[in-house]
Amino acid sequence: MRKFIVGNWKMNGTSADLGEMAEISAVARLHNSVDSALCIPATLIERAVAAVGAFPIGGQDCHMQNSGAHTGCVSAEMLSDAGAVLTIIGHSERRAAQHEQDSDIRAKAQAAKAAGLKAILCVGETLDEREAGMALEIVLGQVAHSLPDNAAGAWLSVAYEPVWAIGTGRVAEPADVADMHAAIRAALVGRFGAEGQKIRILYGGSMNGDNAAVLLAVPNVDGGLIGGASLTAAKFQPILAAAQASGE
Ligand code: PEP
Repeated sequence: MRKFIVGNWKMNGTSADLGEMAEISAVARLHNSVDSALCIPATLIERAVAAVGAFPIGGQDCHMQNSGAHTGCVSAEMLSDAGAVLTIIGHSERRAAQHEQDSDIRAKAQAAKAAGLKAILCVGETLDEREAGMALEIVLGQVAHSLPDNAAGAWLSVAYEPVWAIGTGRVAEPADVADMHAAIRAALVGRFGAEGQKIRILYGGSMNGDNAAVLLAVPNVDGGLIGGASLTAAKFQPILAAAQASGE
């Protein structure tokens, strides 16, 4: 399976950063055995698409409905209309701050698919949950309840992102990542049969140029969702290089 390296710019970026996005797309083109993309603020999608050529640009959330009385929200159809080809769904920052539930995330995934977008659906346990020995139960529960029944296939990726590793510089141990990704794979295959093998499982949480090679070598780690280290071409490039090398 080709590795998938996705940058999550979160609430960062203005028109002054379009040049950096173009730089990132240029380095991504040099790593042509890796799939990559940037998920950016909705305000920049249309201009970013014009700036980066064929490089995939995505959003970071979508509403579950196409239109209506939802002040401040952006639908999957709107993302697609702006030129996005994918979106993140269910990021832990939204699960926590916007109180998104598995049922919301499931509906958002269905909306993304209906709009023709690829989706990266995030799951992950908090530190308290891990320390209580509940990490597997929590994550497999999120996988069971937030993936729609039509999830199978290459349109969906699952991102395992331990909440305590996001933006903290603290990275999960490769052995723990291996256990979690194997459990997620088993759940996907249990539910979707052979099609469950095609769903890429990304790791996210303080991945950077120093640790990417080790993390991407873990079985069932099919790519990465990267926050801080995706904001510049200089930081993103070594991750792309590690992904390319892991497939050689
Ligand atoms: C993320 O935003 O999904 C993420 C993994 O962030 P960071 O790489 O900064 O930990």
